[in-house]
Amino acid sequence: MGDRTRSVAIVGAGVSGLTCGVVFAERGDRAAIFAEHVGQQTTSGAAAALWFPYDCEPREKVVVWALATRSVLVDLARDCTAGVSVVELRQYSRTGELVVPDWANSLGAVSVIPSEVEGPLKIFKSGFSLSVPLMDTTIYLDYLADRFRAAGGEIHTGVRFEKIDEVDRAFDTVINCAGIGARELVQDVDLEPHRGQVVIVPKIDILHSAVVCDDDPLMYAVPRTNDCLFGGTNEISEDLAADAATTARIVGESARVLNIDRPRVLREQVGLRPFRKSGVRLESAQLADGRTVIHNYGHGGSGFTLSWGCAAEVVDLAERRA
Ligand SMILES: Cc1cc2nc3c(=O)[nH]c(=O)nc-3n(C[C@H](O)[C@H](O)[C@H](O)COP(=O)(O)OP(=O)(O)OC[C@H]3O[C@@H](n4cnc5c(N)ncnc54)[C@H](O)[C@@H]3O)c2cc1C
Repeated sequence: MGDRTRSVAIVGAGVSGLTCGVVFAERGDRAAIFAEHVGQQTTSGAAAALWFPYDCEPREKVVVWALATRSVLVDLARDCTAGVSVVELRQYSRTGELVVPDWANSLGAVSVIPSEVEGPLKIFKSGFSLSVPLMDTTIYLDYLADRFRAAGGEIHTGVRFEKIDEVDRAFDTVINCAGIGARELVQDVDLEPHRGQVVIVPKIDILHSAVVCDDDPLMYAVPRTNDCLFGGTNEISEDLAADAATTARIVGESARVLNIDRPRVLREQVGLRPFRKSGVRLESAQLADGRTVIHNYGHGGSGFTLSWGCAAEVVDLAERRA
């Protein structure tokens, strides 16, 4: 049994930092989150937030973390305050035969032939369908923050560190959940910003499943509690401004696929997926002053999908250093 009175400072209040915060605080550790931005202002706030491994390495570890996360999220879907539901995801290809990954087969994925069954979706050549957790970020990020505070955690926002060593020495363990911010915070040149733009439109009555197509142009339509999210883009760029032509393209392609009139745009959001070329960094190290730092960043397009599995491993690493 490790030390239950550890004091933990978490840098970052996106999905990774908030999830780690919940796990530490609910174990009885003293935990505080320090972040420049929280929730909706982070990359996490721009995500489609479907459970689905995408744009993230290394594959073998990603699947293990993803499956661990999935079972926590399926349980959370029973809590109507969490903003988590289990939805049908339809993953399509416009170009050829979509190979169903092994992990999806093990979860009961079923092939679908769009030309035979889907009407307007017949532009797709192949696809599969799978039940997956979906997090409505407008609810789920606040739910995590509230759950963290209810367990005694504190959130300090508007705090920007130039270096990770600057974190208050009153905390004996530091958790680095800075997402793309880790490039500067720990000078990680392996991180690459994979920019994503999404468009929020009013609820669409005919849309009951999440529809995703990874072929170029990347396209997804995700029905949420109070609205619908259309996407998307994935390009190497750190431009956080929404681009009007991209919005028009996203709305046009989604409307074409769903065979509906172009809906009104409620808002646009942009986030930088923290893609790390050598894979997610989840490891412990030592700061110059001897304190333990555990890095948990670089989740690319899968931060929600890996969140609980990675948080559990962060706690294990902290236990081993205690
Ligand atoms: C368009 C789009 C769609 C996506 N869809 C999905 C999806 O369907 N499913 C999925 O699993 N993932 C998806 N993702 C990916 C997912 O959003 C990210 O992997 C995830 O948000 C990363 O979370 P994070 O908490 O690690 O980082 P972030 O959300 O970026 O949070 C980083 C935190 O660190 C803070 N910070 C950074 N630097 C500093 C510093 N120097 N000092 C203090 N604070 C600092 C920030 O203020 C912020 O609070 C999508 C991403 C985008 C952009």
